Amino acid sequence: MTFKILLVEDETKTAEMVRFYLERENFTLFTAIDGSAGEKTFLQQQPDIAILDIMLPGAFDGLELCRRIRQNSTVPIIMLTARAEDTDKVIGLGIGADDYLTKPFSPTELIARVKALLRRAYHYSDPLVPATLGGPRLKMDTNRREVKFDGQIMELTPTEFNLLQILMGNPGWAFTRSHLLEEVWGYSDEAGEETVTAHISNLRQKLGMTSATLIRTKRGVGYAYQEND
Ligand code: CA
Repeated sequence: MTFKILLVEDETKTAEMVRFYLERENFTLFTAIDGSAGEKTFLQQQPDIAILDIMLPGAFDGLELCRRIRQNSTVPIIMLTARAEDTDKVIGLGIGADDYLTKPFSPTELIARVKALLRRAYHYSDPLVPATLGGPRLKMDTNRREVKFDGQIMELTPTEFNLLQILMGNPGWAFTRSHLLEEVWGYSDEAGEETVTAHISNLRQKLGMTSATLIRTKRGVGYAYQEND
């Protein structure tokens, strides 16, 4: 079976990005661009998870839509927030949301949150991505979000983990910095590519001496994860 996801978001660019990444994971996406259309689509489609932007045009916003859904449903809800005060409302008002993401968010992070909620609510297990990635030395358990290097658990930030997951999910494949930036951080511009360089450098530092062979620099292209030649 495939899970149904409702996205209520009036910004086309964000909606299309979310659609691309969710459909790539074989989820079925329904979209609506304001609160009342969102409520209607929710009732018609009975989605397994709802992603609601807070700032919506029309009669009521994402917070109100969340309240309305919660009156009759326990479906997992993720709120999208753009401002700190909105985030405070999601956390403080007891509207019943399960999670929230602050814009701009990375597609990888959204997918991770969606899957985590599906696992909790429906005992979903990811059929497409193998739970274990990596080679003999570096191993990643994507379900437990755990990385071991030579048997030792690595302390990684969520961003470092997401970055490494993309590289390890495609061994030997060279990713450009702008591709990594878009997948992990959710935006692309030239200045941001330095952020990728900095995080790769942190990852290599945590991996120690063998780093240059595990996360390789492909000249003129970017980075690739590779354990063996
Ligand atoms: Ca909006």
